[in-house]
Amino acid sequence: MGRSEEPVRPYGTLVRGLRTAAAVLLTGLAATACGAPAGHPEDDPPVDARNPEARAAIARYRGAPAQALAYAAWRESRAYGKRLATARRWGLADAPLMRPPAPAVKPRLTTEPGFEANDGAPDLPPVITKVPTTDRVIFLTIDDGNRKDPELIRMMSELDIPYSAFLSDFLAREDYGYFHRMRDAGVTLNNHTINHPNLRLMSYEAQRAEICGQQSRLEKEFGTAPRLFRPPFGNYNGDSLRAAKSCGVEVVPLWQEEAFADHWDYRRGSRHFEPGDIVLIHFRGRDEWPGEMPDVVRLVLKKANEEGFALARLEDYI
Ligand SMILES: [Zn+2]
Repeated sequence: MGRSEEPVRPYGTLVRGLRTAAAVLLTGLAATACGAPAGHPEDDPPVDARNPEARAAIARYRGAPAQALAYAAWRESRAYGKRLATARRWGLADAPLMRPPAPAVKPRLTTEPGFEANDGAPDLPPVITKVPTTDRVIFLTIDDGNRKDPELIRMMSELDIPYSAFLSDFLAREDYGYFHRMRDAGVTLNNHTINHPNLRLMSYEAQRAEICGQQSRLEKEFGTAPRLFRPPFGNYNGDSLRAAKSCGVEVVPLWQEEAFADHWDYRRGSRHFEPGDIVLIHFRGRDEWPGEMPDVVRLVLKKANEEGFALARLEDYI
């Protein structure tokens, strides 16, 4: 597939533009010692254009549009300063780009060419490696569940980075408490089978035990059965999709790029992200490869910033 030529405005560019406007306009305005335009207390909530109260506050400046813009830009600049400080604490050079609002309507999904299970069965869950969207976003997914690194949950919460987990019971079960904390932080926990087998080598009934067994396991543990299922190694056939459908799976997200502690694997020829790409990393630590989970996340965030992408929540789009 060729790269889309459609012009797509990176959300981060808008934010950076606003910051530049702040710098220019603030120098031309009377400001208090703390840098705020006169007359506004420091502890106001940050301006969010979607927030009706913020819109009303800005509207009150109708007679002085430059001041209103300067005020909004100053607020944005302060918010960015906080995000930058957090990013630097986690070893990043810049703050991750802000994601756009979730789409009002989720894109319609169909199995991508080359990923059909080829047995003619209708209405099976679609198999995808990217989400059809023009938003400059990618989606981070984390597989298996072996390493349970508390730093990961803290890092992602502080940086406000969404991600989705795909759990195999035989690795996750020794401490589901860790994944409860992850779920409480807003992460969706999805199905990656009970024992992480190569499903293509198994009968329908055996596959059903692996896939639907993990649906039940996760529902019992967390109260809801997952909507998303990822086959181990990306290996599946028509029986896998039929079994998954029989126990409530709606989508089978694979991945485009995979990040390791020291290198990347790319599914397509291009070494660049495209809008909607699904990125895979693993719950692994130094006992398995040369880095901890925050090291791998830093690789992903650095590449995303360099290429102008924000990380968005997969379940907001599919
Ligand atoms: Zn796996």
